[in-house]
Amino acid sequence: MHPTLDDGQPLPPDAPPPPRNNAHCWDPFPDRVAFKFVEQTFEKAENSEEDIKHLLEIMAARDVLYSADDIPSIFHNAEHYFDTLDAIRHGDVKWKSVVRMGRISNLMSGEWANRQAEEISRDSATHGSMLMPIVLGANKTTVSVATGNQEYHPLYMSLGNLTNNMRHAHREAVIPIAFLAIPKGKRNAADSDQFQMFKKQLYHHTITYILSPLRPGMTTPQVFRCPDGHFRRVIFELGRFIADYPKQVYLSGIVQGWCPKCLALPEDFAQASDLRTRKLDEDLRAAYDTKTLWETFGFVSDVTPFTFYFPRADIHKLLTPDLLHQLIKGTFKDHIVAWVEDYICATAETDAEAKRILHDIDRQLAAVPAFPGLRKFPNRHNFAQWTGNDSKALRKVFLPAIVGYVLDDMVRCIAVLLDFTYLVRRSAHTTEDLSNMSATLAEFHRLRTIFEEVGIRPEGFALPRQHALVHYIRSIQLFGSPNGLCSSITESCHITAVKRPWRRSSRKNALGQILHTLTRLNKLAATCIEFTRCSMLQSKLSDYVWHMAGQQDTTDADRAMDERYRHEAEAMAAAEPYSESASVCFPTRPTYTRCLETLEDALGQPRLTEHLCCFLYATLNSSSVSMCPSTPALCSPRTGGMHQEYIRCTPSWYKLGPCYDTVLINVNEDTIGMLGMMVAHIRAFLSFVYDATRYECALVDWFELDGDEPDPVTGMWLAKPELNNGNRITSIIPISTIQLLCGASGA
Ligand SMILES: [Zn+2]
Repeated sequence: MHPTLDDGQPLPPDAPPPPRNNAHCWDPFPDRVAFKFVEQTFEKAENSEEDIKHLLEIMAARDVLYSADDIPSIFHNAEHYFDTLDAIRHGDVKWKSVVRMGRISNLMSGEWANRQAEEISRDSATHGSMLMPIVLGANKTTVSVATGNQEYHPLYMSLGNLTNNMRHAHREAVIPIAFLAIPKGKRNAADSDQFQMFKKQLYHHTITYILSPLRPGMTTPQVFRCPDGHFRRVIFELGRFIADYPKQVYLSGIVQGWCPKCLALPEDFAQASDLRTRKLDEDLRAAYDTKTLWETFGFVSDVTPFTFYFPRADIHKLLTPDLLHQLIKGTFKDHIVAWVEDYICATAETDAEAKRILHDIDRQLAAVPAFPGLRKFPNRHNFAQWTGNDSKALRKVFLPAIVGYVLDDMVRCIAVLLDFTYLVRRSAHTTEDLSNMSATLAEFHRLRTIFEEVGIRPEGFALPRQHALVHYIRSIQLFGSPNGLCSSITESCHITAVKRPWRRSSRKNALGQILHTLTRLNKLAATCIEFTRCSMLQSKLSDYVWHMAGQQDTTDADRAMDERYRHEAEAMAAAEPYSESASVCFPTRPTYTRCLETLEDALGQPRLTEHLCCFLYATLNSSSVSMCPSTPALCSPRTGGMHQEYIRCTPSWYKLGPCYDTVLINVNEDTIGMLGMMVAHIRAFLSFVYDATRYECALVDWFELDGDEPDPVTGMWLAKPELNNGNRITSIIPISTIQLLCGASGA
């Protein structure tokens, strides 16, 4: 990864990066106003070509009305507008290289990246080059463009050395690179084996063709400029491929129902078997006939995976966990939730009884207390229509709702599966996490047999999506934590890359228009990055206009200011994109300002003044809180990765009645887990100034834990209102003590 000159020759050690061209030029826009106008209309408001034409006509009409002949219009007409937009030269994908050692988190921290890097450095032609993994993704959602008979399957690309956080945060981090055309046959022909085979072969040929421009760069280093300003020689490598099971079957050339990663027989899916590799595929193909390959090895010999045409790439290795389809939609929703319902229907004495129980469960789900990140479920039915987000939300509230209606072992089985889900979802994994995952999965396999014993799954568990979980641990060791690199990211990309551009198209021959819109959006985004990098968008637009109107030449003071901004911007860009912190903050403006007496009435809290005195006493005499028994000693919460959560506290939430969220308050930072926390209901957020210090706090009703360990069946803690002579115990606490559940309650 040694820096080089722009021709690839080595740069002397410690030499600074070659200078960039930081000329303040709005090219191809006449000025910043024109750029902002295009950014606003094309990117933010997503106006169609027709809308933009009308808008410019209106503006031109106004110019005529006020005979503003000597003032140039922003754009003469729509043609001028789009010619300018298309003339943008920027549009390269901007990337950032991050290599972190130690715990496994992002793709570049896994064994795979190390191994590929070693392989690159062993070869004298590529020695000293930087590894640039290409992450690919395909989703099942087809784009039936207009009314044509044609379906398109979008293919997405991201760079492997982006951090997972970056991928979550920026739409440019995952980009569509192709819309694969999958032909439809005539009614009878469509189902024939030959036609299916033809579709698979075509799919692989198309991907091979699309990726072929990268092939030379996989063996001969290419010189690229990195965000730190240095040029480096880069070697491309196919990284992981994000796809759900039907696409994995296509991609890996296996028979439907088999595992794309190992040779395990479907009836023996509890364990991973010998791993499939590119080498093994070649050996099998040489040794056996088509029929044996199909029946004994689940291998479709007529399909050659696209990876075969690229150096070092092995499709079986590159298919990595897909949490959304395998774990959340698959194992949890389609399997376990459905089995629980089957069990209830099969064991209830009458249909009416089964209906009553299901209705009760619905009521339980709807009665979930308000908590940031938890959702109420007015209706559990219509599973087929559920989105991934529905399943994710149900996962969090399902367990307590079914206790008592099904066997305890079924509840335990779901609890263990949820534990496994939370472990996989972590943004970084230690060796201990991986061994916990292994133990949890073994326990899940042991407990799920209850569904077999009671006759709900007499056929066992030959379920490829559920089997995929056995490959997760090895995959994390190889490719880093899957969080961020799963199909939920291509699904959300589908909305920005396909659905929204489609909506603004004229709907006729829409594919061409979609691609055109995407190209223009990319150019605009890249231009914005470039202008920001040159500190050209720092000031307010109005300041810029006054500045331009007032003086044509930049003064020395301004230049010094620009230079300072540039340094700050570069320092920010060089820092980690997100700090490892989470905090609770107030909305910028408090909703009401009132005196204490009015507030006591409004909140129905006659003892508010007393609570406030206790709060101040505890805050100002932090060493002792004995005077105020109702206020526990509080600590600042532990923090995790980038995270944002809304805590709601309002007498009316979207006309649905009051919503007062339940939160966790950190009371003992030496104790990990619930024993170090207390549960509270937020009744009001308040802030006040005392002795020139502003205090931001919350009025809370306390809960106490029922027992000192979680419920043995659900593994969940029980809490009940904390009372004193039948009255709720209430106090005021600083909002900084509210614990955000980073990761745990997130998507
Ligand atoms: Zn397998």
